[in-house]
Formats: sequence, C-alpha cells, structure tokens
Amino acid sequence: MNEADLLARIRQSLRTGTTIDGDEVDPFRRVPGAYVLVMHVPLPVRFVRRTMAATMLSGWLVYAGSARGGGGIGARLERHFGKGKRVHWHVDELTNAATRLAALAVRGGCECAIVDRLVRSGGFKPAMKGFGSSDCRQCPAHLLAPTARPDYATKPLAETADTAIR
Ligand SMILES: [Zn+2]
Repeated sequence: MNEADLLARIRQSLRTGTTIDGDEVDPFRRVPGAYVLVMHVPLPVRFVRRTMAATMLSGWLVYAGSARGGGGIGARLERHFGKGKRVHWHVDELTNAATRLAALAVRGGCECAIVDRLVRSGGFKPAMKGFGSSDCRQCPAHLLAPTARPDYATKPLAETADTAIR
C-alpha cells in the first residue's frame, strides 16, 4: 500500500475529485464542499473515547471532512497540511504526526456520502468508531482505514455509480 495506490482506490470508488498536494490548495479557496485526506502515520497515536477502550491509530488512514465556511476546501486543507498546529479537532493529532499527507477535493461534496461510498466499495473500513463523526447520525466514523481485500479492484462498482455524492 502506498499513497498513489490509496488515492487510486479512492478515485475509483468516488469517480470524482481532484488530487491535491500541499502547495496546490489555491484553486479550492472559497470553494465549498468536501475532501478526503490521505495520511501516513508511522508511530501509533493513542485516542480515548468515553466508555471505550483506548485505540492506537497508525499506518495509512483516510479522513473525510467538509468545508462549507468562507475559506472553502482550500483553506481547510491548508490547515490540515500545516505542521505543528494547535490541536482543535482529533484529526489534528493525526495530521501533526503524519509523514505523508495528500487530499482529494470534491466540489460541493458531502463527507458522509463519501464515507458511505468508500465503505460500500469494500476498500475501506472504519478505523475507530465515532472518530470525527460524533455529530453525525449516519456514519460509523469519518476516519477509515484501507482493507486488505485484494479483490476490491475487481468488485463491480456499478451498484454505486449512480449514487450522487453531493
Ligand atoms: Zn457522517
């Protein structure tokens, strides 16, 4: 598994989105929508949620988020790509610890629809229940991890192709 494989897997599942590396956020400033963050966290980061055992997260992780405020997807990704940021959201602990970060921007997209499609593709599973989705009644988590399924690429995607991710 590497970054290119992961981005390809995501693009294949979503059938939309623009790949963005750290210095390419400008075209998405003031553009509202959603994004998928791809990151590699080499050392385990520990998370604790009430009533649940602690979870250690590491390796390749995928986070779906939205940016509907004035700064748009560009400003949000610029923040995610920044190093040593003050931790405001749980995901900040992961992006601060990540050695690789890339993103896929989806104009006008919805993060929950992205999660739904990625999980249904069979290529991703929730990485930690409730992570990033405590305000969401629909998703098991907004943080996913790639599955080891070697057959994901051959699974027909037709069943999801007509599901709008907006
Ligand atoms: Zn959701």
